[in-house]
Amino acid sequence: MAQKNVVVVGAGVAGLTTALLLSRKPGYNIVVAAKHMPGDYDIEYASPWAGANYMPVSIRGTDAAEWDRATWGPLEDLAQNHPDAGVHFQECEIYSRSKDLGTATATWFAELLSPNPWFKDVVPNFRVLPRKALPPGVDSGTVFTSVCINTAIYLPWLVSQCLKNGVIFKRAVFKHISHAASQGVHPSKKVDLVINCTGLMACKLGGVEDKSVVPARGQIVVVRNDAGKMIDISGTDDGEDEAGYMMTRAAGGGTILGGCYQKGNWDSQVDPNLAVRIMKRAVELNPALTGGKGIEHLDIVRHGVGLRPVREGGTRIEKEKIDGTWVVHNYGAGGAGYQSSYGCAEAAVKLVEEALQPRPRL
Ligand code: FAD
Repeated sequence: MAQKNVVVVGAGVAGLTTALLLSRKPGYNIVVAAKHMPGDYDIEYASPWAGANYMPVSIRGTDAAEWDRATWGPLEDLAQNHPDAGVHFQECEIYSRSKDLGTATATWFAELLSPNPWFKDVVPNFRVLPRKALPPGVDSGTVFTSVCINTAIYLPWLVSQCLKNGVIFKRAVFKHISHAASQGVHPSKKVDLVINCTGLMACKLGGVEDKSVVPARGQIVVVRNDAGKMIDISGTDDGEDEAGYMMTRAAGGGTILGGCYQKGNWDSQVDPNLAVRIMKRAVELNPALTGGKGIEHLDIVRHGVGLRPVREGGTRIEKEKIDGTWVVHNYGAGGAGYQSSYGCAEAAVKLVEEALQPRPRL
């Protein structure tokens, strides 16, 4: 079988996972070309800012739920068998407040907040929390074993797995998606297919310009304090676009305190007032963070802002021909890029195979 030449545009979790799964199949010469690479921190690069954990908000019966379902197994395997990937197990407590019912966040989180979500038989140890285990102000809750990913380890780990399989990495900035095939980033002159994993910037990239992709701004505080568990709550008293969550990353990655979900907001700068509200909420929700003391006992590593690539209608996994070259899209995962990464990448790889190795007609 002739080798096929593929360029993956983007080195976030979507591009790297797609390149990795494709590189495990025979017959592909793969180049990952991207403006940002693991190690960079930039407002156009969502992946380093994520917590990141597995906490599905996808609705039962949708493609998104299937992608999340397909991703649990590989993440569980990493946490169990590959400590070098920077993924570990952590208990995840989900809290609901009756007063949040009907708010934007609680509606978006409906499946996650349910006592009977689709993923209760996917993740281990799912159970409803007894009343006495709930913090003040919380009316109900669930708990399950999830994973937390240290993105500072995991993204370079994905690169290293790709390198082992012969994938080539290059820095490149494309004005148009078809330039990934025409501007010589691949050592072979003829590029057979381009995989578009440009995240939020798919809204600006020529040939794609998908205006249904918008930012949902997330602000975080990274602290040295240990949360002991992951927590997520249905809402806050500080406005509908603010959120409360925390998770402690694997292998000394610190604890991420969040957050917010500010749709349409491109601001890359830290809002110091929001940072204070995030820390106050975190300590109220989990006093063990500071041993029962105030926010001045949080030991801050840094503040950060990332933009989730939210797409109306969900992640786009489709193929089309642009300027005569096959393009497979895998972008727009919003706040679920890690927890859906393997499911989305598998779906994208399937489209690559359909495009390049069509079954002979009988
Ligand atoms: P990105 O990581 O943004 O990567 C895009 C890539 O495309 C980059 O390499 C960029 O340089 C490249 N690129 C773009 N345009 C061009 C161009 N024209 N030319 C060349 N290269 C280009 N998800 C979870 O699953 N769990 C979580 O707990 C979680 N928490 C989050 C918390 C925060 C605060 C934020 C901001 C996000 C969180 N997410 C979480 C969401 C997750 O981070 C994103 O869904 C995911 O990172 C998107 O990855 P991506 O590869 O699609 O995009």
